[in-house]
Amino acid sequence: MSFDADVAVVGGGLGGLSAAISAAKEGLSVVLLERGAYSGSKNVSGGRIYVHSLLKLIPDALERAPLERPITRETYEVRCGDRRVTFTFQKRNRDSFSVLRAKLDDWLSHEAEAAGVLTSFDTQVTGARREGGGITVETNRGEFKVPLVIEADGVTAPTSRYLGIRRLTPEQFMVGVKEVVATKPELPEDEGEAKVVLGLTAGLKGGGFLYTNRESVSIGFTVKVESVQEKLVKTSELIEDYRESLGIEGEVLEYSAHLIPYMGYRGLPPLYAPNLMVVGDAAGMLISDGFVIRGMDLAIGSGTIAGQVAAKLREMNNFTRTDIYQSQLEDSFVMRDIKAAWKSFKGLSNPRFYEVYPQVICDVLDSMFSVGDRRLLKVAQERLRKEGLGLTSLARDLLWFT
Ligand SMILES: Cc1cc2nc3c(=O)[nH]c(=O)nc-3n(C[C@H](O)[C@H](O)[C@H](O)COP(=O)(O)OP(=O)(O)OC[C@H]3O[C@@H](n4cnc5c(N)ncnc54)[C@H](O)[C@@H]3O)c2cc1C
Repeated sequence: MSFDADVAVVGGGLGGLSAAISAAKEGLSVVLLERGAYSGSKNVSGGRIYVHSLLKLIPDALERAPLERPITRETYEVRCGDRRVTFTFQKRNRDSFSVLRAKLDDWLSHEAEAAGVLTSFDTQVTGARREGGGITVETNRGEFKVPLVIEADGVTAPTSRYLGIRRLTPEQFMVGVKEVVATKPELPEDEGEAKVVLGLTAGLKGGGFLYTNRESVSIGFTVKVESVQEKLVKTSELIEDYRESLGIEGEVLEYSAHLIPYMGYRGLPPLYAPNLMVVGDAAGMLISDGFVIRGMDLAIGSGTIAGQVAAKLREMNNFTRTDIYQSQLEDSFVMRDIKAAWKSFKGLSNPRFYEVYPQVICDVLDSMFSVGDRRLLKVAQERLRKEGLGLTSLARDLLWFT
């Protein structure tokens, strides 16, 4: 059977573009299929990217990529009603930057084109089937026959589902809601802040975030889908309350709601099948450990590895040996970090971190800074007892984060 290219990459987000660039740099012919009118058009809003994997792919990205601000300030805030605890850490490492995805993904797609990738926008993959020793990808603009597909079509992994290797269930996901608000951060031009906020999600399991861009802030929260279903909270109303509670005023430039994989190392879906490698969100690669959200660097890292494995498979003239991708991932930062985050992933499934412990912290601090009972352990114990808990259960829960 004759093929249209060596590799079809499905999805032109950070994972797909990285895979395409990495495979094209190895001399493969690559077609990238993206349903949006351009890369980033379906990826509005922003966040914070740890740039290590981007720099491996594009060594001078710091000079050329549309990064917003280096994150130099990490703030953690716990709210309990009208009380709040805030902790700020001034960082030395400038290893992460705020970004606006519409700009970053678009820039990376031009890098892909310059590397020789054939990009096909407005091209939605609608099906996939195995035939002739490869995979035929069906799209709204016709079919592409290839010996190898790199799937980077995001959290709902349509290609894996078309090929029958994946099923979705609600407990595998969080929902993320983001806004970009036009307001100039009160920080020097070369500084930026990342903030995590607990206690402003109406009791839903999850937390909020804020990143400062050059002329705007990206705010939002990520919460477990099942807790939204349980508590019947409207996330569109919650984001309004969240913005007001943070005291942010300005025109809302963008709004988006998106699913986020929440699977942990042990819950990851199949990462490969013969003639198929799955990268980024489609492969469930996300770290949310209560302090940081990381998906972009994992998408770029896994995409880069998939592109390199594609070259190896062509050299072997055997596109079924995609198991090599899994073993290379296991040896990389991608799986090392996802594995390391597994314990906090389990810990964060515990509702006590959202409902009880913020109150304990605030009660202890209230006593610490008031005239009255200053036996802080006793204050903590009393609050825990009200909730039917003891210090041992607190210690046991905290062990998940060690
Ligand atoms: C609210 C929120 C906050 C986040 N904050 C951060 C953060 O601060 N830092 C961080 O590192 N990560 C963050 N993430 C996670 C991060 O956005 C993702 O992990 C990352 O975008 C994954 O990249 P990807 O390329 O795998 O998938 P995506 O970026 O989702 O790209 C998938 C692409 O595939 C295309 N596509 C889908 N279906 C088809 C189809 N059938 N045919 C053709 N094309 C298709 C889509 O249009 C899209 O362009 C956040 C996510 C959310 C939702």
